[in-house]
Amino acid sequence: MRNLFFGDAVFTFFKSTQVLQWKVILTVAFFLTLVANTAFFKHVIDVYSLSWSTLPFIVSLAILLVSVCVILLTLLSWGRATKPLLIIILMASSFVAYFMDTYDVVIDAHMIENILQTNLNESADLFSVTLILYVALIGIIPSILIYRVSFRDEGIKAVLIEKAKLFGAALGIALVVLVVFNKNYTSFFREHKPLRYYANPAYYFYSVGHYVQKFLSHPYTGLQIIGKDAKISATDVDRELVILVVGEAARWDHFSLNGYSRETNPLLKKEDIINFSQFSSCGTETAVSVPCMFSSLTRDNYEGEKAGHIENVLDVIAHAGVNVLWRDNNSDSKGVALRATYEDYKSSDKNTMCEGGECRDEGMLVGLDEYIKSHPKGDIVIVLHQMGNHGPAYYKRYPKEFEKFTPVCKSNQLEQCSEQEITNAYDNAILYTDHFLSKTINFLKGHNDKFETAMFYVSDHGESLGEKGLYLHGFPYAIAPEVQKHVPAVMWFGKHFEVNKRKLREKAKEPLSHDSYFHTVLNFAEINSSVYQSELDILHGIH
Ligand SMILES: [Zn+2]
Repeated sequence: MRNLFFGDAVFTFFKSTQVLQWKVILTVAFFLTLVANTAFFKHVIDVYSLSWSTLPFIVSLAILLVSVCVILLTLLSWGRATKPLLIIILMASSFVAYFMDTYDVVIDAHMIENILQTNLNESADLFSVTLILYVALIGIIPSILIYRVSFRDEGIKAVLIEKAKLFGAALGIALVVLVVFNKNYTSFFREHKPLRYYANPAYYFYSVGHYVQKFLSHPYTGLQIIGKDAKISATDVDRELVILVVGEAARWDHFSLNGYSRETNPLLKKEDIINFSQFSSCGTETAVSVPCMFSSLTRDNYEGEKAGHIENVLDVIAHAGVNVLWRDNNSDSKGVALRATYEDYKSSDKNTMCEGGECRDEGMLVGLDEYIKSHPKGDIVIVLHQMGNHGPAYYKRYPKEFEKFTPVCKSNQLEQCSEQEITNAYDNAILYTDHFLSKTINFLKGHNDKFETAMFYVSDHGESLGEKGLYLHGFPYAIAPEVQKHVPAVMWFGKHFEVNKRKLREKAKEPLSHDSYFHTVLNFAEINSSVYQSELDILHGIH
Protein backbone atom coordinates (compact mmCIF):
# COMPACT_ATOMS: atom_id res chain seq x y z
CA MET A 1 0.00 0.00 0.00
CA ARG A 2 2.75 2.41 0.98
CA ASN A 3 4.30 2.29 -2.47
CA LEU A 4 1.03 3.31 -4.05
CA PHE A 5 1.26 6.66 -2.37
CA PHE A 6 2.76 8.98 -4.94
CA GLY A 7 4.71 11.16 -2.50
CA ASP A 8 6.22 8.11 -0.94
CA ALA A 9 7.20 6.76 -4.35
CA VAL A 10 8.96 9.99 -5.16
CA PHE A 11 10.78 9.95 -1.83
CA THR A 12 11.85 6.36 -2.30
CA PHE A 13 13.09 7.22 -5.76
CA PHE A 14 15.11 10.09 -4.41
CA LYS A 15 16.43 8.19 -1.46
CA SER A 16 17.60 5.30 -3.54
CA THR A 17 19.10 7.44 -6.27
CA GLN A 18 22.55 8.80 -5.71
CA VAL A 19 22.87 12.17 -7.34
CA LEU A 20 25.78 14.33 -8.27
CA GLN A 21 25.97 17.58 -6.31
CA TRP A 22 26.40 19.79 -9.36
CA LYS A 23 23.22 18.42 -10.93
CA VAL A 24 21.23 19.34 -7.82
CA ILE A 25 22.66 22.87 -7.87
CA LEU A 26 21.80 23.24 -11.55
CA THR A 27 18.26 21.94 -10.95
CA VAL A 28 17.67 24.37 -8.08
CA ALA A 29 18.94 27.27 -10.24
CA PHE A 30 16.55 26.34 -13.07
CA PHE A 31 13.67 25.78 -10.67
CA LEU A 32 14.06 29.15 -8.91
CA THR A 33 14.52 31.05 -12.18
CA LEU A 34 11.37 29.61 -13.69
CA VAL A 35 9.11 29.42 -10.62
CA ALA A 36 10.19 32.23 -8.27
CA ASN A 37 10.68 35.08 -10.75
CA THR A 38 7.15 35.97 -11.85
CA ALA A 39 7.57 39.54 -10.59
CA PHE A 40 10.89 39.89 -12.39
CA PHE A 41 9.57 38.78 -15.79
CA LYS A 42 6.33 40.72 -15.33
CA HIS A 43 8.30 43.94 -14.82
CA VAL A 44 10.66 43.12 -17.68
CA ILE A 45 7.69 42.62 -20.00
CA ASP A 46 6.11 45.85 -18.73
CA VAL A 47 9.24 47.70 -19.78
CA TYR A 48 10.25 45.85 -22.96
CA SER A 49 6.82 44.42 -23.95
CA LEU A 50 6.57 40.90 -25.31
CA SER A 51 7.07 40.53 -29.06
CA TRP A 52 9.08 38.44 -31.50
CA SER A 53 11.78 41.09 -31.48
CA THR A 54 12.13 41.25 -27.67
CA LEU A 55 11.73 37.52 -27.05
CA PRO A 56 15.42 36.60 -27.62
CA PHE A 57 16.50 39.23 -25.06
CA ILE A 58 13.93 38.06 -22.52
CA VAL A 59 15.07 34.44 -22.99
CA SER A 60 18.66 35.63 -22.58
CA LEU A 61 17.65 37.22 -19.25
CA ALA A 62 16.33 33.85 -18.07
CA ILE A 63 19.63 32.22 -19.09
CA LEU A 64 21.54 34.96 -17.28
CA LEU A 65 19.45 34.45 -14.13
CA VAL A 66 20.15 30.71 -14.15
CA SER A 67 23.88 31.39 -14.66
CA VAL A 68 24.05 33.94 -11.85
CA CYS A 69 22.15 31.59 -9.57
CA VAL A 70 24.54 28.72 -10.41
CA ILE A 71 27.56 30.96 -9.75
CA LEU A 72 26.18 31.99 -6.35
CA LEU A 73 25.18 28.47 -5.35
CA THR A 74 28.51 26.91 -6.35
CA LEU A 75 30.38 29.58 -4.42
CA LEU A 76 28.27 29.20 -1.29
CA SER A 77 27.68 25.47 -1.06
CA TRP A 78 30.47 23.50 0.56
CA GLY A 79 30.50 19.93 1.82
CA ARG A 80 27.93 19.08 4.43
CA ALA A 81 26.58 22.62 4.41
CA THR A 82 25.26 22.17 0.84
CA LYS A 83 21.89 20.64 1.73
CA PRO A 84 20.98 23.03 4.59
CA LEU A 85 22.08 25.96 2.44
CA LEU A 86 19.94 24.94 -0.53
CA ILE A 87 16.97 24.42 1.81
CA ILE A 88 17.42 27.86 3.41
CA ILE A 89 17.63 29.46 -0.04
CA LEU A 90 14.50 27.67 -1.29
CA MET A 91 12.55 28.69 1.81
CA ALA A 92 13.72 32.31 1.70
CA SER A 93 13.08 32.54 -2.04
CA SER A 94 9.52 31.28 -1.58
CA PHE A 95 8.77 34.15 0.84
CA VAL A 96 10.52 36.68 -1.37
CA ALA A 97 8.59 35.47 -4.43
CA TYR A 98 5.30 35.80 -2.54
CA PHE A 99 5.96 39.34 -1.32
CA MET A 100 7.24 40.53 -4.69
CA ASP A 101 4.33 38.96 -6.60
CA THR A 102 1.71 40.09 -4.10
CA TYR A 103 2.87 43.49 -2.88
CA ASP A 104 5.55 44.38 -5.39
CA VAL A 105 8.01 44.99 -2.58
CA VAL A 106 11.71 44.54 -3.23
CA ILE A 107 14.16 43.13 -0.71
CA ASP A 108 16.88 45.74 -0.35
CA ALA A 109 19.16 46.34 2.64
CA HIS A 110 16.56 48.62 4.28
CA MET A 111 13.94 45.94 3.89
CA ILE A 112 16.24 43.40 5.55
CA GLU A 113 16.60 45.82 8.45
CA ASN A 114 12.84 46.25 8.46
CA ILE A 115 12.21 42.50 8.50
CA LEU A 116 14.63 42.03 11.39
CA GLN A 117 12.84 44.75 13.34
CA THR A 118 9.28 43.63 12.62
CA ASN A 119 7.52 41.86 15.42
CA LEU A 120 5.35 38.79 15.08
CA ASN A 121 2.17 40.74 15.70
CA GLU A 122 2.78 42.92 12.67
CA SER A 123 3.67 40.01 10.41
CA ALA A 124 0.53 38.13 11.48
CA ASP A 125 -1.39 40.61 9.30
CA LEU A 126 0.50 39.31 6.28
CA PHE A 127 -0.36 35.62 6.57
CA SER A 128 -2.64 34.19 3.92
CA VAL A 129 -3.54 31.00 2.08
CA THR A 130 -1.57 32.19 -0.95
CA LEU A 131 1.51 32.67 1.22
CA ILE A 132 1.16 29.09 2.48
CA LEU A 133 0.86 27.86 -1.12
CA TYR A 134 3.97 29.77 -2.20
CA VAL A 135 5.98 28.49 0.73
CA ALA A 136 4.75 24.93 0.20
CA LEU A 137 5.35 24.79 -3.56
CA ILE A 138 8.56 26.80 -3.86
CA GLY A 139 9.98 26.16 -0.40
CA ILE A 140 8.84 23.10 1.51
CA ILE A 141 8.26 20.45 -1.20
CA PRO A 142 11.56 21.01 -3.05
CA SER A 143 13.31 21.21 0.35
CA ILE A 144 11.95 17.80 1.35
CA LEU A 145 13.22 16.36 -1.93
CA ILE A 146 16.66 17.89 -1.35
CA TYR A 147 16.66 16.59 2.19
CA ARG A 148 15.88 13.06 0.99
CA VAL A 149 18.38 13.03 -1.84
CA SER A 150 21.80 11.54 -1.20
CA PHE A 151 24.88 12.91 -2.87
CA ARG A 152 27.11 10.36 -4.58
CA ASP A 153 30.29 9.97 -2.59
CA GLU A 154 33.03 10.62 -5.12
CA GLY A 155 35.65 12.22 -2.93
CA ILE A 156 36.40 15.89 -2.37
CA LYS A 157 38.63 16.27 -5.38
CA ALA A 158 36.07 15.00 -7.88
CA VAL A 159 33.33 17.21 -6.35
CA LEU A 160 35.61 20.24 -6.55
CA ILE A 161 36.47 19.60 -10.18
CA GLU A 162 32.81 19.15 -11.10
CA LYS A 163 31.83 22.33 -9.30
CA ALA A 164 34.67 24.26 -10.92
CA LYS A 165 33.47 23.07 -14.33
CA LEU A 166 29.90 24.10 -13.54
CA PHE A 167 31.07 27.48 -12.26
CA GLY A 168 33.20 28.03 -15.35
CA ALA A 169 30.38 27.05 -17.69
CA ALA A 170 27.91 29.38 -15.93
CA LEU A 171 30.38 32.26 -16.00
CA GLY A 172 31.15 31.61 -19.67
CA ILE A 173 27.48 31.48 -20.64
CA ALA A 174 26.76 34.67 -18.67
CA LEU A 175 29.58 36.51 -20.46
CA VAL A 176 28.49 35.26 -23.90
CA VAL A 177 24.90 36.40 -23.20
CA LEU A 178 26.12 39.85 -22.06
CA VAL A 179 28.32 40.26 -25.14
CA VAL A 180 25.74 39.03 -27.67
CA PHE A 181 22.96 41.22 -26.25
CA ASN A 182 25.24 44.02 -25.13
CA LYS A 183 23.00 46.82 -26.45
CA ASN A 184 19.99 45.50 -24.55
CA TYR A 185 22.01 45.02 -21.39
CA THR A 186 23.38 48.53 -21.50
CA SER A 187 19.81 49.83 -21.33
CA PHE A 188 18.84 47.14 -18.83
CA PHE A 189 21.56 48.12 -16.35
CA ARG A 190 21.60 51.87 -16.94
CA GLU A 191 18.04 52.94 -17.66
CA HIS A 192 16.00 50.24 -16.01
CA LYS A 193 17.90 49.84 -12.78
CA PRO A 194 14.82 48.87 -10.71
CA LEU A 195 14.27 45.70 -12.80
CA ARG A 196 17.23 43.91 -11.25
CA TYR A 197 15.70 44.40 -7.77
CA TYR A 198 13.21 41.68 -8.69
CA ALA A 199 15.80 39.00 -9.56
CA ASN A 200 15.18 36.14 -7.15
CA PRO A 201 17.34 35.00 -5.33
CA ALA A 202 20.25 37.10 -6.69
CA TYR A 203 19.04 40.47 -5.42
CA TYR A 204 18.25 39.46 -1.87
CA PHE A 205 21.67 37.75 -1.69
CA TYR A 206 23.14 41.09 -2.63
CA SER A 207 20.96 42.90 -0.08
CA VAL A 208 21.90 40.58 2.76
CA GLY A 209 25.56 41.11 1.83
CA HIS A 210 25.02 44.86 1.66
CA TYR A 211 23.28 44.86 5.04
CA VAL A 212 25.99 42.76 6.70
CA GLN A 213 28.72 44.93 5.17
CA LYS A 214 26.98 48.10 6.38
CA PHE A 215 26.51 46.56 9.80
CA LEU A 216 30.15 45.48 10.12
CA SER A 217 31.77 48.51 8.60
CA HIS A 218 30.32 50.94 11.11
CA PRO A 219 32.80 52.16 13.63
CA TYR A 220 30.01 53.53 15.81
CA THR A 221 30.09 52.44 19.39
CA GLY A 222 28.74 53.90 22.59
CA LEU A 223 26.48 56.90 22.61
CA GLN A 224 27.45 60.39 21.55
CA ILE A 225 25.94 62.91 23.93
CA ILE A 226 24.70 66.06 22.18
CA GLY A 227 23.04 69.26 23.36
CA LYS A 228 24.29 68.89 26.92
CA ASP A 229 24.03 72.70 27.07
CA ALA A 230 20.28 72.64 26.35
CA LYS A 231 18.39 75.17 28.45
CA ILE A 232 14.93 76.60 28.49
CA SER A 233 14.95 80.32 27.58
CA ALA A 234 15.09 82.54 30.63
CA THR A 235 12.18 84.53 29.23
CA ASP A 236 10.01 81.42 29.09
CA VAL A 237 8.23 81.24 32.41
CA ASP A 238 5.10 79.38 31.27
CA ARG A 239 4.92 75.62 31.17
CA GLU A 240 4.69 73.91 27.77
CA LEU A 241 2.55 70.89 27.02
CA VAL A 242 3.35 69.59 23.53
CA ILE A 243 1.99 66.46 21.88
CA LEU A 244 3.95 65.09 18.92
CA VAL A 245 1.87 62.62 16.93
CA VAL A 246 3.93 60.33 14.69
CA GLY A 247 1.58 59.06 11.99
CA GLU A 248 1.76 55.77 10.12
CA ALA A 249 1.56 55.34 6.34
CA ALA A 250 -0.77 58.31 5.75
CA ARG A 251 -0.82 59.86 2.29
CA TRP A 252 -0.99 63.63 1.92
CA ASP A 253 -3.34 63.37 -1.06
CA HIS A 254 -5.91 61.40 0.95
CA PHE A 255 -6.35 64.28 3.40
CA SER A 256 -9.23 66.52 2.31
CA LEU A 257 -7.20 69.36 3.90
CA ASN A 258 -4.94 68.92 0.86
CA GLY A 259 -7.79 68.94 -1.61
CA TYR A 260 -8.80 65.27 -1.66
CA SER A 261 -12.28 65.02 -3.16
CA ARG A 262 -13.56 62.84 -0.30
CA GLU A 263 -14.21 64.44 3.07
CA THR A 264 -11.61 62.66 5.18
CA ASN A 265 -10.90 65.53 7.60
CA PRO A 266 -14.38 66.57 8.76
CA LEU A 267 -13.17 67.29 12.31
CA LEU A 268 -9.69 68.75 11.72
CA LYS A 269 -11.08 71.29 9.27
CA LYS A 270 -13.19 72.75 12.10
CA GLU A 271 -10.08 73.36 14.22
CA ASP A 272 -7.76 76.33 13.87
CA ILE A 273 -4.95 74.21 12.44
CA ILE A 274 -2.02 74.92 10.16
CA ASN A 275 -1.85 72.40 7.33
CA PHE A 276 1.48 71.72 5.61
CA SER A 277 0.82 70.75 2.03
CA GLN A 278 4.36 70.00 0.79
CA PHE A 279 5.93 67.89 3.50
CA SER A 280 8.25 65.06 2.50
CA SER A 281 9.48 62.11 4.54
CA CYS A 282 13.01 60.99 5.33
CA GLY A 283 12.42 57.37 4.37
CA THR A 284 9.73 55.18 2.88
CA GLU A 285 9.47 52.92 5.91
CA THR A 286 9.04 53.26 9.66
CA ALA A 287 12.46 51.85 10.56
CA VAL A 288 14.14 54.65 8.60
CA SER A 289 11.73 57.56 8.94
CA VAL A 290 11.07 57.50 12.68
CA PRO A 291 14.71 57.49 13.87
CA CYS A 292 15.58 59.96 11.11
CA MET A 293 12.87 62.42 12.21
CA PHE A 294 14.14 62.56 15.80
CA SER A 295 17.80 62.56 14.77
CA SER A 296 19.87 65.68 14.13
CA LEU A 297 21.04 64.05 10.89
CA THR A 298 19.24 65.09 7.74
CA ARG A 299 18.05 62.74 5.01
CA ASP A 300 21.23 63.34 2.98
CA ASN A 301 23.57 62.21 5.72
CA TYR A 302 21.27 59.86 7.61
CA GLU A 303 22.51 56.34 8.38
CA GLY A 304 20.49 54.17 10.75
CA GLU A 305 23.51 52.70 12.50
CA LYS A 306 25.09 56.13 13.03
CA ALA A 307 21.86 57.73 14.26
CA GLY A 308 21.47 54.95 16.81
CA HIS A 309 24.73 56.04 18.43
CA ILE A 310 23.95 59.74 18.72
CA GLU A 311 21.42 61.20 21.12
CA ASN A 312 18.18 62.39 19.53
CA VAL A 313 15.97 65.41 20.14
CA LEU A 314 14.13 63.69 22.99
CA ASP A 315 17.48 63.29 24.80
CA VAL A 316 18.34 66.94 24.17
CA ILE A 317 15.08 68.27 25.60
CA ALA A 318 15.48 65.89 28.55
CA HIS A 319 18.88 67.55 29.22
CA ALA A 320 16.94 70.78 29.67
CA GLY A 321 14.69 69.13 32.24
CA VAL A 322 11.64 68.54 30.02
CA ASN A 323 9.47 65.56 31.00
CA VAL A 324 9.34 63.18 28.03
CA LEU A 325 6.80 60.39 27.55
CA TRP A 326 6.51 58.06 24.54
CA ARG A 327 3.31 56.08 24.07
CA ASP A 328 3.38 53.52 21.27
CA ASN A 329 0.54 51.84 19.43
CA ASN A 330 2.79 50.98 16.44
CA SER A 331 5.62 48.43 16.53
CA ASP A 332 7.99 50.30 18.85
CA SER A 333 9.96 53.56 18.90
CA LYS A 334 12.70 52.15 16.59
CA GLY A 335 15.25 53.06 19.24
CA VAL A 336 14.17 56.69 19.64
CA ALA A 337 12.66 56.32 23.11
CA LEU A 338 15.35 54.06 24.58
CA ARG A 339 16.20 56.66 27.23
CA ALA A 340 12.73 58.15 27.68
CA THR A 341 9.68 56.90 29.58
CA TYR A 342 8.12 54.38 27.20
CA GLU A 343 4.64 52.91 27.41
CA ASP A 344 3.40 50.11 25.17
CA TYR A 345 -0.21 50.66 24.04
CA LYS A 346 -0.43 47.73 21.61
CA SER A 347 -2.10 45.40 24.05
CA SER A 348 -5.00 45.59 26.46
CA ASP A 349 -2.53 45.54 29.37
CA LYS A 350 -2.36 49.33 29.11
CA ASN A 351 -4.67 50.26 26.25
CA THR A 352 -8.29 50.34 27.39
CA MET A 353 -9.61 50.63 23.82
CA CYS A 354 -8.86 47.27 22.21
CA GLU A 355 -11.21 44.99 20.29
CA GLY A 356 -10.38 41.67 18.63
CA GLY A 357 -6.64 42.06 19.15
CA GLU A 358 -6.59 45.54 17.61
CA CYS A 359 -5.85 48.46 19.93
CA ARG A 360 -7.02 51.95 19.01
CA ASP A 361 -4.82 55.04 18.79
CA GLU A 362 -7.37 56.91 20.95
CA GLY A 363 -6.48 54.59 23.82
CA MET A 364 -3.15 56.47 24.08
CA LEU A 365 -5.03 59.56 25.31
CA VAL A 366 -6.63 57.67 28.19
CA GLY A 367 -4.89 58.41 31.47
CA LEU A 368 -2.74 61.23 30.07
CA ASP A 369 -4.36 63.60 32.59
CA GLU A 370 -2.88 61.51 35.39
CA TYR A 371 0.56 61.67 33.79
CA ILE A 372 0.29 65.46 33.59
CA LYS A 373 -0.94 65.75 37.18
CA SER A 374 1.91 63.59 38.42
CA HIS A 375 4.45 65.92 36.79
CA PRO A 376 3.72 69.24 38.48
CA LYS A 377 7.00 70.86 37.40
CA GLY A 378 8.70 71.52 34.08
CA ASP A 379 7.56 71.28 30.50
CA ILE A 380 5.97 68.15 29.10
CA VAL A 381 6.50 66.63 25.65
CA ILE A 382 4.44 63.56 24.80
CA VAL A 383 4.97 61.48 21.67
CA LEU A 384 2.04 59.37 20.45
CA HIS A 385 3.14 56.81 17.84
CA GLN A 386 0.08 55.79 15.90
CA MET A 387 -1.02 52.53 14.29
CA GLY A 388 -2.65 54.87 11.76
CA ASN A 389 -2.90 53.41 8.27
CA HIS A 390 -0.64 50.42 8.77
CA GLY A 391 -1.30 48.04 5.87
CA PRO A 392 -2.24 45.81 4.26
CA ALA A 393 -5.21 45.19 6.60
CA TYR A 394 -6.50 48.79 6.52
CA TYR A 395 -10.00 47.57 7.40
CA LYS A 396 -8.75 46.60 10.86
CA ARG A 397 -7.48 50.10 11.62
CA TYR A 398 -10.76 51.79 12.62
CA PRO A 399 -13.88 51.09 14.69
CA LYS A 400 -17.03 50.13 12.76
CA GLU A 401 -18.58 53.61 13.04
CA PHE A 402 -15.79 55.01 10.84
CA GLU A 403 -16.68 52.76 7.93
CA LYS A 404 -18.07 55.63 5.88
CA PHE A 405 -16.63 54.59 2.51
CA THR A 406 -17.87 51.17 1.35
CA PRO A 407 -17.47 48.44 0.20
CA VAL A 408 -14.11 47.84 1.84
CA CYS A 409 -11.36 45.35 1.13
CA LYS A 410 -11.48 42.80 3.96
CA SER A 411 -8.43 40.87 2.88
CA ASN A 412 -4.73 41.29 3.37
CA GLN A 413 -4.41 40.02 -0.22
CA LEU A 414 -4.71 43.47 -1.70
CA GLU A 415 -4.56 42.22 -5.29
CA GLN A 416 -7.77 40.27 -4.68
CA CYS A 417 -9.68 43.49 -3.98
CA SER A 418 -10.60 46.21 -6.42
CA GLU A 419 -8.63 49.43 -6.19
CA GLN A 420 -11.82 51.11 -4.99
CA GLU A 421 -12.30 48.67 -2.10
CA ILE A 422 -8.68 49.14 -1.00
CA THR A 423 -9.02 52.93 -1.18
CA ASN A 424 -12.29 52.80 0.77
CA ALA A 425 -10.71 50.87 3.66
CA TYR A 426 -7.65 53.14 3.54
CA ASP A 427 -9.77 56.30 3.61
CA ASN A 428 -11.82 55.05 6.55
CA ALA A 429 -8.55 54.66 8.46
CA ILE A 430 -7.63 58.27 7.54
CA LEU A 431 -11.07 59.33 8.81
CA TYR A 432 -10.25 57.63 12.10
CA THR A 433 -6.91 59.48 12.28
CA ASP A 434 -8.84 62.72 11.71
CA HIS A 435 -10.98 61.80 14.73
CA PHE A 436 -7.90 60.87 16.78
CA LEU A 437 -6.10 64.14 15.99
CA SER A 438 -9.17 66.23 16.75
CA LYS A 439 -9.57 64.37 20.05
CA THR A 440 -5.89 65.10 20.83
CA ILE A 441 -6.45 68.80 20.13
CA ASN A 442 -9.50 68.82 22.37
CA PHE A 443 -7.54 67.07 25.09
CA LEU A 444 -4.95 69.89 24.89
CA LYS A 445 -7.70 72.52 24.99
CA GLY A 446 -8.60 71.17 28.41
CA HIS A 447 -5.09 72.17 29.56
CA ASN A 448 -4.98 75.58 27.88
CA ASP A 449 -5.27 77.48 31.15
CA LYS A 450 -2.20 76.02 32.81
CA PHE A 451 0.00 75.36 29.77
CA GLU A 452 1.18 76.71 26.46
CA THR A 453 -0.19 73.81 24.43
CA ALA A 454 0.64 72.63 20.92
CA MET A 455 0.32 69.57 18.70
CA PHE A 456 2.47 68.58 15.74
CA TYR A 457 1.30 65.70 13.60
CA VAL A 458 3.30 64.29 10.71
CA SER A 459 3.21 60.88 9.06
CA ASP A 460 6.35 58.76 8.90
CA HIS A 461 5.94 57.93 5.19
CA GLY A 462 3.20 57.55 2.61
CA GLU A 463 1.70 54.47 0.97
CA SER A 464 1.10 53.01 -2.50
CA LEU A 465 -2.45 51.86 -3.11
CA GLY A 466 -2.04 49.87 -6.32
CA GLU A 467 -0.81 52.64 -8.63
CA LYS A 468 1.37 50.98 -11.30
CA GLY A 469 0.83 47.69 -9.47
CA LEU A 470 2.61 48.98 -6.36
CA TYR A 471 1.27 48.42 -2.85
CA LEU A 472 2.33 49.35 0.68
CA HIS A 473 5.63 51.24 1.12
CA GLY A 474 9.34 50.71 1.63
CA PHE A 475 10.38 51.17 -1.99
CA PRO A 476 14.00 52.39 -2.36
CA TYR A 477 13.80 56.16 -1.82
CA ALA A 478 15.45 57.22 -5.08
CA ILE A 479 12.87 55.42 -7.19
CA ALA A 480 9.89 55.37 -4.79
CA PRO A 481 6.72 57.00 -6.11
CA GLU A 482 5.85 60.41 -4.65
CA VAL A 483 2.88 58.96 -2.74
CA GLN A 484 5.30 57.02 -0.52
CA LYS A 485 7.35 60.16 0.27
CA HIS A 486 4.86 63.04 0.39
CA VAL A 487 3.17 63.04 3.79
CA PRO A 488 0.45 64.97 5.60
CA ALA A 489 1.55 67.31 8.42
CA VAL A 490 -0.57 69.47 10.72
CA MET A 491 0.16 71.85 13.61
CA TRP A 492 -2.20 73.21 16.22
CA PHE A 493 -1.49 75.80 18.92
CA GLY A 494 -3.33 76.61 22.14
CA LYS A 495 -4.29 80.18 23.00
CA HIS A 496 -1.16 80.96 25.04
CA PHE A 497 1.35 79.69 22.50
CA GLU A 498 2.95 82.67 20.85
CA VAL A 499 2.91 82.08 17.13
CA ASN A 500 2.03 84.19 14.12
CA LYS A 501 -0.44 81.88 12.39
CA ARG A 502 -0.78 84.05 9.31
CA LYS A 503 2.98 83.89 8.70
CA LEU A 504 3.09 80.18 9.47
CA ARG A 505 0.26 79.46 7.00
CA GLU A 506 2.37 81.11 4.30
CA LYS A 507 5.38 79.00 5.25
CA ALA A 508 3.20 75.87 5.32
CA LYS A 509 2.78 76.10 1.54
CA GLU A 510 6.54 75.78 0.99
CA PRO A 511 8.41 72.48 0.54
CA LEU A 512 9.44 71.17 3.97
CA SER A 513 10.63 67.83 5.25
CA HIS A 514 11.42 65.60 8.21
CA ASP A 515 14.86 67.27 8.16
CA SER A 516 13.36 70.12 10.14
CA TYR A 517 11.71 67.94 12.78
CA PHE A 518 14.63 67.92 15.23
CA HIS A 519 15.02 71.70 15.31
CA THR A 520 11.30 72.46 15.25
CA VAL A 521 10.77 70.24 18.29
CA LEU A 522 13.53 72.21 20.06
CA ASN A 523 11.59 75.39 19.27
CA PHE A 524 8.32 73.85 20.45
CA ALA A 525 9.96 73.25 23.81
CA GLU A 526 11.58 76.74 23.63
CA ILE A 527 15.05 75.32 24.14
CA ASN A 528 18.39 76.99 23.48
CA SER A 529 21.31 74.78 22.58
CA SER A 530 24.40 74.80 20.40
CA VAL A 531 22.91 71.91 18.39
CA TYR A 532 19.97 74.08 17.30
CA GLN A 533 20.01 75.27 13.68
CA SER A 534 17.47 78.00 13.00
CA GLU A 535 17.50 77.44 9.22
CA LEU A 536 16.03 73.98 9.78
CA ASP A 537 13.37 75.18 12.24
CA ILE A 538 9.89 75.60 10.75
CA LEU A 539 8.87 77.99 13.54
CA HIS A 540 11.97 80.19 13.28
CA GLY A 541 10.94 83.84 13.02
CA ILE A 542 7.26 82.91 13.22
CA HIS A 543 6.69 84.02 16.84
ZN1 LIG B 1 5.56 53.44 9.00
